Amino acid sequence: MIMNYNINQLPEPSTKRIAFKVKSAVERAIRKKHPWVFEGGIVKQSSEGEAGDVAIVYDGKKNKLIAVGFYDPHSPVRIKILSHGAAMIDEVWFEERVAAAAQQRQSLLETDTNSYRLIYGENDSLSSLIADVYDQVLVIKLYSFVWLPYLKMILPILLKYSNCSTAVLRLSRVMQNQPEYLHGLQDGMILHGKLEQPDIHFKEHGLLFSANVIKGHKTGFFLDHRHNRKKVGALSMGKKVLDIFSYAGGFTVHALGGGASEVVSLDISAKAQEMAKKNVALNFKDANHSVLVADAFEGMQSLLRRGTRFDVIIVDPPSFAKRDSEKEGALNSYTRLARLAALLAVKGGVLLLASCSSRISADDFFAAAESGIKATGRSFQLEEKTFHDIDHPVTFPEGAYLKAGYYRLND
Ligand code: SAH
Repeated sequence: MIMNYNINQLPEPSTKRIAFKVKSAVERAIRKKHPWVFEGGIVKQSSEGEAGDVAIVYDGKKNKLIAVGFYDPHSPVRIKILSHGAAMIDEVWFEERVAAAAQQRQSLLETDTNSYRLIYGENDSLSSLIADVYDQVLVIKLYSFVWLPYLKMILPILLKYSNCSTAVLRLSRVMQNQPEYLHGLQDGMILHGKLEQPDIHFKEHGLLFSANVIKGHKTGFFLDHRHNRKKVGALSMGKKVLDIFSYAGGFTVHALGGGASEVVSLDISAKAQEMAKKNVALNFKDANHSVLVADAFEGMQSLLRRGTRFDVIIVDPPSFAKRDSEKEGALNSYTRLARLAALLAVKGGVLLLASCSSRISADDFFAAAESGIKATGRSFQLEEKTFHDIDHPVTFPEGAYLKAGYYRLND
């Protein structure tokens, strides 16, 4: 069900200012423009407060202001820094940030694309706020309660710079689980304009897609791989393509658009496969496309047993390491996947191996992927490494999560 929310019910921004002193290591991180102050990094604070109160951080020696941010008593990241220097957090300040973000994405909008990330949280100085655009629909995803008193202020600015007529709100799992702080807001509510149905059509480099902005993963679609999907399209003319962890068929559609002779999508979710079929049908009448609903490891093994081989193979798994203790297992899985993919590729075939785990460094990921290919005894070369597309800029180490390598098998 699509539900509207009247944002006038939200509280006004508080006028409270809380002064902080932090540990010297945190001061150094702030000087390097890091956007987070963890609870344990705080030495002193002038008073308690509520989510969205303005936090002002002073240095320990000279009492000089070094940062301004939002105070968040609900999160271990207790201060979300907005400005690494003095700033009035008001409409003017928000508009400057949103205008700068829009400007940074301008070149993307000159391609045949109307889906993009307008605001990527901390990396666009707006910690814990994501704003994705799907044609006329703006999807705001919040990861912290700090934004609730400021939604009324920032919404018209986001609408103006995105040229959207509708705004949908998505909430992080952590926020959804604490309804007592939500002022009646629920995940998927409409904050502005009308939404007739949850599936929105949009374009990515000339190809059509549909995403469920109310219930889909993240804000409905994985916009972050756009540049890799375009590259896969360019590699696919006359090729047999295998898209593993295919979700809504992003890579599948681009491979078909690039002239693939056949595409197989593999995903464990039958629902995702329905979306993939729908997205293929939006673009092509008689595409040579089939879906395999299976676990990736098992599905790849069974393709191997059947002797099926592919020219282009995409392996884009979900995040395998949600916490540090899972890192080793994640690297192991990347290696196993790379090995299976290499076994499934023809001579001269290309593997696109990707990782979206922020806890796994790019170097560790590429090493794991290469050891998987090496284990097959086949010779290969790394043709290209890619990272974030321009609408997912990275301004601090934890903001970087996406890395992908293009490997060609020589024999
Ligand atoms: N490549 C996609 C995004 C992938 S998201 C794109 O470009 O849009 C990760 C996908 O992996 C999800 O669709 C999820 O259903 C699928 N998945 C998770 N675990 C899996 C497993 N063990 N085997 C196969 N698919 C899996």
